[in-house]
Amino acid sequence: MIYQRSSALFKEAKQYIPGGVNSPVRAFKAVGGDPIFVKEAKGAYLYDEDGNRLIDYISSWGPLILGHAHEPVISAVINKAKQGTSFGMPTEIETELAKLAVSMVPNIDKIRFVNSGTEACMSAVRLARGFTGKDKIIKFAGCYHGHSDSFLIQAGSGAVTFGSPNSPGVTQGTAKDTLLAQYNDIAGVRALAEANKGQIAAVIIEPVAGNMGCIIPTEDFINGLRELCTSENILLIFDEVMTGFRLAAGGAQEVLNVAADIVTFGKVIGGGLPVGAFAARSEIMDYLAPEGPVYQAGTLSGNPLAMSAGLAMLRELNNKPEIFTSLEEKTQYLHKGIAHVLKSKGVPHQINRFGSMVSVHFTDQPVIDFVSSAKGNNETFKKYFHGMLQQGIYLPPSAFESYFLNDALSYQDLDDTIAAVATIF
Ligand SMILES: *Cc1c(COP(=O)(O)O)cnc(C)c1O
Repeated sequence: MIYQRSSALFKEAKQYIPGGVNSPVRAFKAVGGDPIFVKEAKGAYLYDEDGNRLIDYISSWGPLILGHAHEPVISAVINKAKQGTSFGMPTEIETELAKLAVSMVPNIDKIRFVNSGTEACMSAVRLARGFTGKDKIIKFAGCYHGHSDSFLIQAGSGAVTFGSPNSPGVTQGTAKDTLLAQYNDIAGVRALAEANKGQIAAVIIEPVAGNMGCIIPTEDFINGLRELCTSENILLIFDEVMTGFRLAAGGAQEVLNVAADIVTFGKVIGGGLPVGAFAARSEIMDYLAPEGPVYQAGTLSGNPLAMSAGLAMLRELNNKPEIFTSLEEKTQYLHKGIAHVLKSKGVPHQINRFGSMVSVHFTDQPVIDFVSSAKGNNETFKKYFHGMLQQGIYLPPSAFESYFLNDALSYQDLDDTIAAVATIF
């Protein structure tokens, strides 16, 4: 396939936008080459500026769980736009989306809408600090919670890909309040909690990680976190920006059967428009302004277009729970197909999968945390990524990213994808 016009557009973009992109991982730095400029998309397919059709395994990094330009979402947005795009005043649709989200997700009474996952996680931590009166947080190496200062400590995907786990511009003062633990290492978390007794406001985690590949928590680890947080009066924050409304209607809390104290959302909850949210039981949420003392605000928060997209999306998922099963079956099919090819060609690999999240790691060791994920062979990954791209299959351009399947993918698409893998090795 030829990606000539994309390359020309990238060259021009670089003159006016730093690195030519508005979010670093789009720039293909980890895999080399020029990024693809997309023109439009429908269902499981992207159509780029050169006229190529690509099968999409990113789904806009998660939001488009039902595929691109999904009709109910698009018509909801178009109809809403005709009535005005922003008011800075309360609207009924905010309550409708809040009510539906609260009915789908366990352990939450109230939800506050913001504009991105970053904002959701940043606000959740402020709320946890305000509520507990403590300053420190624990995060896990390789987990990404957006680009706010306190999270840019070994932050997975984009940040790791670019070799800047600690970004310049993050002050020492901020960094010292973020304690770093290893995923799936409960003993390490206990030791940190013991060494910082009475000072930890929250533990924040991706309950199934998607930003160092797909990493699955062991039962002992995730249950151990819950017990530790309860006994130490620490709030457990599940960052469900990726897993929320993707792994199940109730997200990771539902499938892992573990209750979080605060849950953050993004991606699917906005149906492809900029929405983030954080939610908890009333006792915690009422600590927020204007009810309580913890300040948080947003000119475009609860924006009617964004709310209408989110509402149409969540209604689809709520009315058709079989979507989650269908997606899981497709992902499992892809997993088995790729594993079969790689095994028959003798390529050392691990494939991690949970629901509709899956990642291929070119290593012969189990991938259970950031360190083991980083051991994957990046040269093999690049060959795989570009080999697939040449055949019109768009995978995440970094070995540290999970694929996010969408339900518009057909079994023919999956078979074509598996067949493409076979031509590379
Ligand atoms: C994408 C992501 C974020 C950040 O969301 P943005 O909308 O990009 O700010 C936070 N946490 C997780 C787990 C994510 O995957």
